[in-house]
Amino acid sequence: MATFSVDFLGCKVSHTDAQEIRERLFADGHAEKETAADLAVVNTCCVTHEAVRKSRQAARRAARRAGRVYVTGCAARLPGAFDGLPANVRVVRAPSERAPDLVAGDVGAIGCVSADIGLDRVRAFVKVQDGCSFSCRFCVIPQVRGASRSRRADAVLAEVRRRVEQGHREVVLTGINLGCYRDREAGFDLAGLVRAAGATPGLGRLRLSSLEVNHLSERLLGAMRETPCVSPHLHVPLQSGDDRVLEAMGRRYTVATYLRRTERATGFNLTTDVIVGFPNEDERAFKNTLRVVERAGITRVHVFPYSPRPGTRTANEDPVPPSAKRDRSVRLRVASAGACKRRWLAKLGCEDFVLVDRPGRGYGNDYSPWLLEADVGSLVRARATAVSEEGIVGLAA
Ligand code: SF4
Repeated sequence: MATFSVDFLGCKVSHTDAQEIRERLFADGHAEKETAADLAVVNTCCVTHEAVRKSRQAARRAARRAGRVYVTGCAARLPGAFDGLPANVRVVRAPSERAPDLVAGDVGAIGCVSADIGLDRVRAFVKVQDGCSFSCRFCVIPQVRGASRSRRADAVLAEVRRRVEQGHREVVLTGINLGCYRDREAGFDLAGLVRAAGATPGLGRLRLSSLEVNHLSERLLGAMRETPCVSPHLHVPLQSGDDRVLEAMGRRYTVATYLRRTERATGFNLTTDVIVGFPNEDERAFKNTLRVVERAGITRVHVFPYSPRPGTRTANEDPVPPSAKRDRSVRLRVASAGACKRRWLAKLGCEDFVLVDRPGRGYGNDYSPWLLEADVGSLVRARATAVSEEGIVGLAA
């Protein structure tokens, strides 16, 4: 038996990839150990220059505390990203689907099955789709993840059932471009999958991770509204609120389309990603983004200062000074904090179901953060009594 640790950087898909490797190592009879393990797995991210830097740093740190380090995930497939690291670091360049087998095969199985020891029991991320066939001009993900492909619906639904049986209260369906989900043979699209997964006995809450606005159809919204355990939360990347910038990014929608499609999601908590400091973003374009964020009723904005990625069509373009990117990031985060607070204040005196995922904290049905004392892992009815800078303060009702 070997001891191991698994860390990940980046998005929910990276989280699920790391989790798959972790479970595979458990299944082979190895044991998790946070420090001084025989081997460490670092599932990496390459979405920004900063993400690659942190991934390298994590791999270097792991190489000091573990005998052997496996670097997996998006950045591992980026040529040269881990050159010059210590000799005990192995870069696994295979697609995410093959990484668990490659790591486990290299470590060696001992055949003692102890599959679900130590799993996080609150929330499970279930990957239904991987890769992306879009071609946003700034994005490195299609290069490292390949074209869009979906898992079979029966495999996804079996995994959802297994997660619920393991005690997970919430399941999040994730993918790199989730709305592309299709199992043509079984006749499933994402809307069908939501209805089927949402009918899993014992499931407390079903959420979707990120969704492109072009996939936000009436059919999908209908499935989300009509399936009782589905969270009324949508994370729909905007990236910019300026048509000229969207066009230069190679995004497949205009501001008007974004607003028209998200307007249909009345009552949903809408969150987003925005890139600031894209090469043709000037002050006027940035102000358009601020206006669109407000007009769409977006609450939480994940702000990404633009950084050119190798191999993309904007790899050599980065004219916006770092100080302007910092300034725009701060202004957008301030706007986002104000919008969150307004949504939270509107809930004062109301009740909601809160999934407590850490001591004293959890998330309401619409993914608003709550501060609440209850057992970790419990889904409790709570009343909103106040609002702080960090979320809605609640008492179990
Ligand atoms: S939709 Fe665009 S930004 Fe998102 S992964 Fe695909 S290419 Fe990248």
